[in-house]
Amino acid sequence: MRFEASTPPARPVQREAAGSTWSGCHSFAAEELLVPSTVEQLQETVAASSRIRALGTRHSFNDIADTDGSLVSVLGLPERFELDDDAGTVTVSGGTSYGRLAAQLGPTRWALANMGSLPHISVAGAVSTGTHGSGVAHRNLSAAVRGIETVEADGALRRRTREEDPDFAGRVLALGALGITTALTLDLVPSFEVRQDVWFDLPWASLLEGVEDIMTAAYSVSIMPDWSSTEVAGKVWLKSRTDHWDGTLDPARYGARWALSVPGEIAEGHFPHQTVQGGVPGPWWQRLPHFRPDANPSRGDEIQTEYFVDRRHGAEALAALRACAERFAHLVLVSELRTVAADDLWLSPSHGRDSLGIHFTWANDPESVLEVLPVVEAALAPFSPRPHWGKWFSLEGPEIQAHYPRLADFRRLAEAADPGGTFRNRFLERTLGLA
Ligand SMILES: Cc1cc2nc3c(=O)[nH]c(=O)nc-3n(C[C@H](O)[C@H](O)[C@H](O)COP(=O)(O)OP(=O)(O)OC[C@H]3O[C@@H](n4cnc5c(N)ncnc54)[C@H](O)[C@@H]3O)c2cc1C
Repeated sequence: MRFEASTPPARPVQREAAGSTWSGCHSFAAEELLVPSTVEQLQETVAASSRIRALGTRHSFNDIADTDGSLVSVLGLPERFELDDDAGTVTVSGGTSYGRLAAQLGPTRWALANMGSLPHISVAGAVSTGTHGSGVAHRNLSAAVRGIETVEADGALRRRTREEDPDFAGRVLALGALGITTALTLDLVPSFEVRQDVWFDLPWASLLEGVEDIMTAAYSVSIMPDWSSTEVAGKVWLKSRTDHWDGTLDPARYGARWALSVPGEIAEGHFPHQTVQGGVPGPWWQRLPHFRPDANPSRGDEIQTEYFVDRRHGAEALAALRACAERFAHLVLVSELRTVAADDLWLSPSHGRDSLGIHFTWANDPESVLEVLPVVEAALAPFSPRPHWGKWFSLEGPEIQAHYPRLADFRRLAEAADPGGTFRNRFLERTLGLA
């Protein structure tokens, strides 16, 4: 099945102000944002640039996309949606949002195995940073990429595939360092239905004792810990496949309770910008993200941080954070624990280890956040934390590099693909030592 978008006539490359990230906590230093309307224009633009970086939908929080040259967007390129029923894959344009892709897949017999919390992000931008949802069996979104089409530093458009390219594990989650991605081929799974249920009042003691158990209680589980409380950790969101619904699941076994849910009424604690809760079955794409595609995700006025530790040490890592929580809890708007299955992608925060992601949405108070990040990082240091590439962290390059056993391979790939450093920036230099 091929989606025939009415391709608008090519227009000259648009030039816009670079602006800032979605939440405004980083203002781009780039001179401008270029928006080509054809792949050929993109190729010419890249070939003529000494410094250029891709910008997706701006949902990262730090300077990862930034450059001292120009930013370029693929959001103006013609849309692609090519479903291959035999292969069980879909090829989409890089600027497609997960929400748009999911709505196109919705009427078919196919689904994405998982989604991040928000459907607004571009596929190319999300897989460049290892964006993930939750679920002990689910790898991050980058691991679903089977093919990638990229305009490389010489301006050539090249397609690489998992089957043919021995370096493919370094190509997808590449932080924008290898070129500008125009299209991606993604693995699909047969479509399924999901129900979303919430537990309230999970005690900290049960969380620390049973985090592994709770995380395996549904297809995708998120725990929202309250660091300001010494007794009650808080809510658990369970996204269960309706064909695997476990009717015996009882939060009382962990000292928690079901959210109150009266048929026809909004479930307890449910906000209108969130996807439907209260155990109402629905299509995968309307339940797996936390936020509705037609509403503002999260708060907007915020800074985010996330660290990944080996799941086997999850409870110890949480206990270490609790021991210093009084130093950072006042800045936390929301915190979330999720799981990500191990993969083999060279720059993946879950490379080689099943991971627990420990996430913080902070108040938009940059100075105070920068003060508490070292506190959080010191507590997590014994657990070899890997930060989310698109969020704030204060770990130094060597501390990060030590946890990436395939970093030398990635450096080799980046040197070969981009010997002149067209796609390099300060972020890559600071974190990966890519000068
Ligand atoms: C409200 C909110 C909720 C979030 N929830 C989650 C979550 O559930 N899970 C999670 O893991 N993260 C989450 N994030 C973080 C977000 O998913 C990542 O930062 C993601 O990379 C953003 O995608 P983007 O398209 O906005 O990319 P941008 O932020 O625009 O860019 C990110 C990186 O991708 C590169 N890039 C972008 N487009 C291309 C391209 N076409 N070719 C090559 N490189 C490209 C950029 O150069 C940059 O290095 C959330 C962010 C917000 C604001």
